[in-house]
Amino acid sequence: TAAGDIDFSADLNREQLAVATAPGGPMLVIAGAGSGKTRALTYRLAWLVHHGIDPSRILLVTFTNRAAREMLSRVEVLVKQKTREIWGGTFHHIANRILRIHGTLLGISPDFTILDREDARDLLASCVDEAGIDIRQRRFPHKGVLAAISSFLQNTLESLDDVLSKRYPMFVEEIVGIEKVLVLYTEKKRLRQLLDFDDLLSAWLRLMAEHEDVRDQLARQFLHILVDEYQDTNKIQGAIIDLLAARHRNLTVVGDDSQSIYSFRGANFENIITFKDRYPNAREYKLETNYRSVPEILTLANASIAQNVRRLPKNLQAIRSSGLKPAIVPCHDHYTQSRFIAEYVLHLLDEGRTLADIAVLYRSHWHSLEIQLEFQRRNIPFHIRGGLRFFEQAHMKDILCYLRVMQNPADELAWLRLLKMLPRVGSALSRRVWRHISDSADPVKEVFTVETASLLPVSARPFYEDFAALIRDAREIDSPAEIIDLVLKRSYEDYLVSHYDGASLRKEDINGLANFASQYKNVEAFLADVALAGEFSGENVVAGPDEQEFVILSTVHQAKGLEWPIVFIPWLSDGRFPSDMAMNRKEELEEERRVFHVAVTRARDELYLIVPEIYRNRGGNLVMMKPSRFLTELSRELTEQMELEEGLPHLIGGDDRNLLPSDGGM
Ligand code: ATP
Ligand code: MG
Repeated sequence: TAAGDIDFSADLNREQLAVATAPGGPMLVIAGAGSGKTRALTYRLAWLVHHGIDPSRILLVTFTNRAAREMLSRVEVLVKQKTREIWGGTFHHIANRILRIHGTLLGISPDFTILDREDARDLLASCVDEAGIDIRQRRFPHKGVLAAISSFLQNTLESLDDVLSKRYPMFVEEIVGIEKVLVLYTEKKRLRQLLDFDDLLSAWLRLMAEHEDVRDQLARQFLHILVDEYQDTNKIQGAIIDLLAARHRNLTVVGDDSQSIYSFRGANFENIITFKDRYPNAREYKLETNYRSVPEILTLANASIAQNVRRLPKNLQAIRSSGLKPAIVPCHDHYTQSRFIAEYVLHLLDEGRTLADIAVLYRSHWHSLEIQLEFQRRNIPFHIRGGLRFFEQAHMKDILCYLRVMQNPADELAWLRLLKMLPRVGSALSRRVWRHISDSADPVKEVFTVETASLLPVSARPFYEDFAALIRDAREIDSPAEIIDLVLKRSYEDYLVSHYDGASLRKEDINGLANFASQYKNVEAFLADVALAGEFSGENVVAGPDEQEFVILSTVHQAKGLEWPIVFIPWLSDGRFPSDMAMNRKEELEEERRVFHVAVTRARDELYLIVPEIYRNRGGNLVMMKPSRFLTELSRELTEQMELEEGLPHLIGGDDRNLLPSDGGM
């Protein structure tokens, strides 16, 4: 062929090779963790590019934007060609790009602002108040109503009625009020050109459903479509992909039903199960070799997931040679737990491991707080994937609001936040100012009028005038980094010192933000990336020091698709992992077990399952906890028990653990 031959047979097994080199048509790969699904997709991309498919006509959908970037750079190495033109990223990322181009057809301005989840919640809350439904007077907590509404908005294609009766029966009687909230919310977003994450997807779908020409154009453009982590797509995402693929049906999806862990966002593995109905001639591949983990870890992972009733049976064999059994580490309490992890990390470093070899994966963010403190005390560098979402920290949001009003002067939430930052201006006043500004034909001009300033008490006016002058000057600047510098210098630095503790660290964050922003020529591109980064804070958009030099702390949800030689899983007590909330219903417990399965299958060589026995609650009382049922339901032979000396994480059974790469055999 013109492209010349390319031989991947040394890098892939027979099935992977078949996936990578298939000519086209629908393909479904269902296979367990670590079986090389992502690798097969990566090689398929390489194969397509090598065989002359125009990169701009390939669409790769991944769980994080970072995953797409990593796959594409691997492809560049494999085929020695640039891959920048490939459309790669999350559904939201692709939706954003497409809506900036075609959104006007739906009345969406090309400068729309993306609302992150927290902003969306704020806006919804204000709609609940405005709708005047007497929620708080009744038994219905504000929060519950918000949860019900966002569950409806989250991507299921179900009616409000269905959502409420299935999942929130207590609100069925409130349906009229809730509908009112939804109308308000939709209207506010429309007026202010705001799109929340769910809107990005539903607008993309609507665009294709209502505009045949756009649908045709997109379906023609994307000649090949590849989707990783297909088990966590929801109905809307499934429908989007089906429309895009309708023309050529060159669609490769890979996934693992046992790793489906996003049902709280409306995802489920329905799309996998029904794939064969929608694509009757789809080729189906199974990958049955696990390349990632030593057999001892894989055996435990398999035994655990076998407890789930709802799953597709899989036969996954380890290929690596025997290594260490997963260790169960009983700890007196959660302080001992974090001390154990910290000391053991230091021990591993002594033994020649690097920080980047190690991850701590937990069920919930707050499980990591003690561990963070302990690492800090011992100067162990760590990086939190997820957790404090960088851009959702208060000081980040403050700064971002300045940029948001630059881009979209109709952005009410941003204006209110900025106004409230002024001395002597509270909620009521800031709302009054905003109402005045937004009523005028040209809101931005109105910011600078004497009339606007006169709405404020005399004592607040000078501050307001400085603020208005700052906005005026910032509007003259295109570069988001320069705007951030200006804001910091002219006003925010003082605000930081007087309003937050840890001002100097926060200032570092802001400088980091400015650094990151300097890659962008304009505010719009910058804000779009920032908003999407908040979606998964696993995304390391801020150019921080190299991740090589850190232990990774992450929720299990954000560790999907990744792997580390050594993994610690803390808080394996009933009520923590599985979490209390998941222990009542069978489906929820099964989902929770899939979360555990994802955690366990991230480990390549060593796995530490940590079981704190006592918990000190807020009142200072000691509460006994039971070991997690995810451990007690397994046969004891699958693990070995490590013992710690009384209270101290000094290892008795563990010092002689073999730290040679277990690939070498024992
Ligand atoms: P997950 O379900 O966790 O996303 P996956 O099925 O996508 O896992 P990969 O991440 O692609 O699996 O592969 C797991 C590990 O096995 C990686 O380190 C990968 O490089 C390695 N691997 C996959 N296939 C092969 C192969 N044919 N030969 C050698 N190593 C392989
Ligand atoms: Mg993968």
